[in-house]
Amino acid sequence: MTRPLDAIFSPRSVAVVGASRRRDSLGFSLLHNLVVNELNGAIFPVNPQARAIHSLKCYPSVAAIPDPVDLAVIMVPRDLVQGVVEECLAKGVGGLVVITAGFSETGEEGAALERRLRETVRAAGVRMIGPNCMGVINADPAVRLDATFAPTPAQHGAIGFVSQSGALGVAILNVAQDLGVGLTQFVSMGNKADVSGNDLIEHWEDDPETRVIAMYLEAFGNPRRFTEIAKRVTRKKPILVVKSGRTAEGARAATSHTGAIAGTDVTVSAFLDQCGVLRANTIEELFDVARALARCPLPGGFRVGIVTNAGGPGIMATDACVNLGLHMAELSDATRATLRSFLPREASVVNPVDMIASATAEHYARTVAAVLDDPQVDMAMVINVTPILTNPIDVMEAIGAVARERTKPVLAVMMATEEFYDAVKTARDLPPVYHFPESAARVMFLLARYAAWRRRPADLPAPEFDTDDAQVAAILDATPEGYLDPAATFRVLDLYGVPLARWRLARDRDEAAAAAREIGFPVVLKAVAPGLVHKSDVGAVQVDLRGEAELAKAAAEMERRITAAGHPLEAFLVQEMARGGHEVIFGITTDPRFGPLLMFGLGGKYVEVFQDVRFAVTPLDAEEARDVIRGIRGFKLLEGVRGEAGADLELLAEILLRLAQLSQRHPRIRELDINPFLAGHDRANARALDARICIGS
Ligand code: ADP
Ligand code: MG
Repeated sequence: MTRPLDAIFSPRSVAVVGASRRRDSLGFSLLHNLVVNELNGAIFPVNPQARAIHSLKCYPSVAAIPDPVDLAVIMVPRDLVQGVVEECLAKGVGGLVVITAGFSETGEEGAALERRLRETVRAAGVRMIGPNCMGVINADPAVRLDATFAPTPAQHGAIGFVSQSGALGVAILNVAQDLGVGLTQFVSMGNKADVSGNDLIEHWEDDPETRVIAMYLEAFGNPRRFTEIAKRVTRKKPILVVKSGRTAEGARAATSHTGAIAGTDVTVSAFLDQCGVLRANTIEELFDVARALARCPLPGGFRVGIVTNAGGPGIMATDACVNLGLHMAELSDATRATLRSFLPREASVVNPVDMIASATAEHYARTVAAVLDDPQVDMAMVINVTPILTNPIDVMEAIGAVARERTKPVLAVMMATEEFYDAVKTARDLPPVYHFPESAARVMFLLARYAAWRRRPADLPAPEFDTDDAQVAAILDATPEGYLDPAATFRVLDLYGVPLARWRLARDRDEAAAAAREIGFPVVLKAVAPGLVHKSDVGAVQVDLRGEAELAKAAAEMERRITAAGHPLEAFLVQEMARGGHEVIFGITTDPRFGPLLMFGLGGKYVEVFQDVRFAVTPLDAEEARDVIRGIRGFKLLEGVRGEAGADLELLAEILLRLAQLSQRHPRIRELDINPFLAGHDRANARALDARICIGS
């Protein structure tokens, strides 16, 4: 035994402390699971009240066991756990799993007991899973450890699964069994007093049997360490996560757009994306993806070839792929000629290839081979609607034989009976099979995303910009808490190299007129008033004022309006009237767990309507910044559509990186919005029109 968790996963002897004769108890179920799954090792029930349980000799205490004990599974009442753990350590056990609940999940008293437990095991250098967990499984046929009380056993396979929830653990094992998915190991982590999800990822990192790491998470214990580990491990093997608790972790009343949107679940998705971790929406989807990752090679790109024996499902598949952002491969002339040579005349030999209902297993084999061998194709979805004469198992085997000889993923969609699914679900040498094209398309998309992550250069450094941070700090320090005034806000942005629309502050109408002459008409007039955040809502923005008369009139009316709205006028802001380009938003917000977050999206009024934004956690490298810009739904708008000029995309990425540096070097900035930033086709045509910075205490 060489690795820290080996005593837990591969024990040659297991003590069950708190084993019970009562059939309806957890203490019986767990012992029963160890026995019926035929642990390759000795089992020692411990219970002072019994002589034998489940036909095994029972010991009054751990100390009374004459043999060495690798793993102790503890399920005694809560107040006895500490004593039992100490006894186990005195006995020299190699690892601990504490099933007993009633610790930090119940309040301060339990938390104190849990801290003591952690200190005890850490001082002894022995690892502990739990407390408050469902146990562990190692499905390796050489070990056959099922130290859980779950009714469903695990089949052996290639997926390491860790669940933060014990109750969901039972459901996870059920879904795995239904889908015929095999696991290497399964861990219910419980309260993670000692062993964490991060430890388990590291345990599986170099385990050759575990090809896919899957996690059900409710919260990130230590996001910084997770990032570091996940970025490294996903270079070797995929990590799949279902993250529940889609409510706001960092939700709080936020006046900035960035803060309000960041309070939602998008933050977690951005964070996982940046670590190369794939996020599934449901446990079922997680297993759908995991099956493919365990069985298929990774695709070289996003181009899909579809082969079907019915038109409808082919169209469904095409729609699903295109909607997700996959591309339909364009088959070469040579491929089409090959297909023509053996398919019936009614068949369609463009993608999706429709072989029509008469297709045989042989047709499938030849067609799938031709499509996969086309260099334009990165992966194939093969659809079969069971016709009367062909046996779908023959079709599956034909596809499997072709797929095995190639290095591109093949996913099967079989619209067949449940008997068919039962027959093929555990056949690990066959392609993964799905009920519907939509699920297969989603899996393909995640495979392609993961493959793209693997091709990306690793560990790019975050770029550094030359900035006068002492001056920025001095400006920020002048405001104890709350919003910076507009002049301070613009100066900070200027010091950080964010281009700004020319601006002047004016105390009254005369100064405003002078400012406008200096800037040059047309100008934009805005009111500055304490507590006035969303200016256009109260008529505090007037654009395109073409001369002094217009300006004077606008200023008088604006002053009247905002005073009536309860905002005494402090000053006017006069700005150059900017034209052309795309309104985008940049933002910074801080998350109690993830630290500073960057946001980018379509700006101006579009933020409120479409919320088409992406987030990134810091630090941020140049490629990640580009990913954020490219990742919004409306990216095509920024590229320029219908003859309209596109935005300077490199500049946008650069501004995001500059703001990342600002957020990291000046943690007093709690929120920042630049909205809108008008992005033209080059640097000279790009400028921030409105911004606010909120300082934390
Ligand atoms: P707020 O967000 O407080 O309502 P803004 O300063 O963002 O006020 O102005 C509202 C809208 O007016 C902007 O989204 C933009 O479309 C337009 N606008 C503001 N400043 C300028 C400017 N200098 N040039 C052109 N249009 C502007
Ligand atoms: Mg604005």
